[in-house]
Amino acid sequence: MSLSVQGQAVSRGIAIGRAVLVASNRLDVAHYFIEAGQVDTEVDRLRRARSAVVEEIGKVQQSLQELGPKDAHHELAALLDVHLMLMEDTQLQAGVKYWISERLYNAEWALTAQLETISRQFDEMEDPYLRERKADLEQVVERLLRHMRADANPAPMHAPSNRRGEPLVLVAHDLSPADMLQFKQSVFTGFVTDVGGKTSHTAIVARSMDIPAVVGARTASQLIEEDDWVIIDGDAGVVIVDPSPIVLAEYGFKQRQGEVERERLSRIKNTPAVTLDGERVELLANIEQPQDSTPALSVGAVGVGLFRTEFLFMGREGRLPDEEEQFTAYLAAVEGMHGLPVTIRTVDVGADKPLDRSAREDHLNPALGLRAIRWSLSEPSMFQAQLRAALRAAAFGRVNLLIPMVAHVGEIRQVLAHLARARQQLDERAVAYGPVRLGAMIEVPAAALCVPAFLKYFDFLSIGTNDLIQYTLAVDRVDESVAHLYDPLHPAVLKLVASVIAECRALGKSVSVCGEMAGDVAMTRLLLGLGLRSFSMHPSQILAVKQQILRADTRKLRAWAQAVVASEEPGTMMGD
Ligand code: PEP
Ligand code: MG
Repeated sequence: MSLSVQGQAVSRGIAIGRAVLVASNRLDVAHYFIEAGQVDTEVDRLRRARSAVVEEIGKVQQSLQELGPKDAHHELAALLDVHLMLMEDTQLQAGVKYWISERLYNAEWALTAQLETISRQFDEMEDPYLRERKADLEQVVERLLRHMRADANPAPMHAPSNRRGEPLVLVAHDLSPADMLQFKQSVFTGFVTDVGGKTSHTAIVARSMDIPAVVGARTASQLIEEDDWVIIDGDAGVVIVDPSPIVLAEYGFKQRQGEVERERLSRIKNTPAVTLDGERVELLANIEQPQDSTPALSVGAVGVGLFRTEFLFMGREGRLPDEEEQFTAYLAAVEGMHGLPVTIRTVDVGADKPLDRSAREDHLNPALGLRAIRWSLSEPSMFQAQLRAALRAAAFGRVNLLIPMVAHVGEIRQVLAHLARARQQLDERAVAYGPVRLGAMIEVPAAALCVPAFLKYFDFLSIGTNDLIQYTLAVDRVDESVAHLYDPLHPAVLKLVASVIAECRALGKSVSVCGEMAGDVAMTRLLLGLGLRSFSMHPSQILAVKQQILRADTRKLRAWAQAVVASEEPGTMMGD
């Protein structure tokens, strides 16, 4: 039966494909695709784990018999019998083999995918005894996974491939930004998650993949089943499950229209971003990995305005990248941009970008906690290693250093002291380094209200609207239950953005916007009218924003932009 779910539109376009579910149960396993030649190896891993579990249960049964007959033991023995029966269950075995051989899932993923499928059947059972057997099944799967983890030779990670040649869409309850990055090189044509807001980091990485995506779709991962046909409408934020042929045809048409539009946009790739009245605008790229410099250059970005270096630090189980590893990454970005500037933002972990999955719930209020520069200052040796790596990369090209989430002048002084120390350490080691321009992110209202003081220390500012909105409106950017309150057009947000731009211009310092607002075509005219001449966004958004710029006349936008900022309901004036 066809049904639709509403969520948040985060990445435009239409995707139509078969659902691949990333297990939403509590078993946290790696999800990756294997190559066709590795199917037997993965099935063997599973077989070995199965034999080990059967043996393990057999031993427990044996020791129970030796203890003699006692009531409690009867119950335990019966439970173990159930577990053994489940191990023999043909639906479990056949299902897991299907996911491995037909979908090329790694064994752990296949096992949890089949667990999910069978669990749903258990949930629908009327008989409470049978329904409770779901817990047994989970325990059996957990036992198998434990043995598989101990198995030394899992198949190596591979970029996903799809044997049947059908498009695939990814469906998950939640995905961490690090998981998302893992899927970045994949064949998925779209994705949907139950949780998340428009500017959650998972959504941001999805946008960088340039595939249609919907987040905050609440129950999508429960309603959608493996292999279901799904339409993801990334423009409207709608997910349609099991569409009728008419709906399918309609969306197929929309999808082709989108492709034609993209093709048309690609023609302005080499056109300079200059408004009708001759104002030159800088269009920069936001990147997560050094190799993102390739798509950035391919759409004509004139530099990197934000390199989110924290993606080098995430999901590494405590083993953080050292100076050499970071230097290699920064150098690759600098060389990849062929002489254009690269803005390296110092690590911004915390909040919805935990270092590791397990660290997610360590803090009550992570967005207000030890995040970004606060974390860096609390880890001086790590911070200095990062500064040294960036300074060294600056010997090979133009590098800007950007500090996230600064709120106190005291923090700025500490950053400067660390920077001086990092230079001194490189001098002592006689290692070459280059000059850097130093900038601050304006993403906390406190910083937005102290621009003149900040500009005594910084060469440039970059407005991080994603966090500035979150902190101004006290709305968690990740929480879909308050997503309706996350309003980039709130008068308070616009007043802060407008005043930061105006103060920088008055003091002759450069300012850009690097939050998602910069890549939103609905905001381009307003930001131009407020005097912004530098925008940083994901490469996939650059051409659409450029098109807006080419059609704009800033002389006509100035008074209107001021009126929008002064309005009680700026949203009502945006179409003017
Ligand atoms: C922002 O807050 O707007 C920003 C660009 O930083 P991030 O999204 O990485 O927090
Ligand atoms: Mg931020």
